[in-house]
Amino acid sequence: MRLLVVEDDPDLNRQLVAALNDAGYAVDSALDGEEGHFLGDTEPYDAVILDIGLPTMDGISVLEQWRRDQRIMPVLILTARDRWSDKVAGMDAGADDYVSKPFHMEEILARVRALLRRSAGHATSEIECGPIRLDTKTARVTIDGSAVKLASHEFRLLSYLMHHRDRVVSRTELVEHLYEQDFDRDSNTIEVFIGRLRKKIPADYIKTVRGLGYSLADPQNEA
Ligand code: CA
Repeated sequence: MRLLVVEDDPDLNRQLVAALNDAGYAVDSALDGEEGHFLGDTEPYDAVILDIGLPTMDGISVLEQWRRDQRIMPVLILTARDRWSDKVAGMDAGADDYVSKPFHMEEILARVRALLRRSAGHATSEIECGPIRLDTKTARVTIDGSAVKLASHEFRLLSYLMHHRDRVVSRTELVEHLYEQDFDRDSNTIEVFIGRLRKKIPADYIKTVRGLGYSLADPQNEA
């Protein structure tokens, strides 16, 4: 899952990026509205954390512009305390949720998890596929109840496939959603990580669909 943080306070921006990285997300960040708008307009993010008070272009305008241009990724806005009117304006501009400053990082993480699973069509924090279970709250994966140890890139990959299970995900989509903007994006590495994952989860759950990509599905459910 790849996220964008748009926040002009450099310390807060850094803290958000660090916490989201630790939680297993690929994160890009911008320090002003114009740069944030550009990134959200040109890169496919799974969710965005957008401050409302921003230099060069305010958060409400950034959001309105994205929505006008059919950019439909979930957006969590950050509002100043006691500015109820910002919350209303933000939600009306197309925000999916808000958090008021100052906030606890845990709240941001919980809201991001909820936005990600909702937008992928999952109502609960645990996503299952046969014996494979992803607890999005703890970022743990179990198979038949036993914990599986995954490296961070393997986890990102499996988490994306689990959120989008039962559909074919192309290699390009995976590259775009698993890595930061300045990461050296070689789609062959995806194949390597798929290979590693297949050794850690029941191998027949990740299917290669020739010429199209991969899909994670329970082979028992296929006719
Ligand atoms: Ca600000």
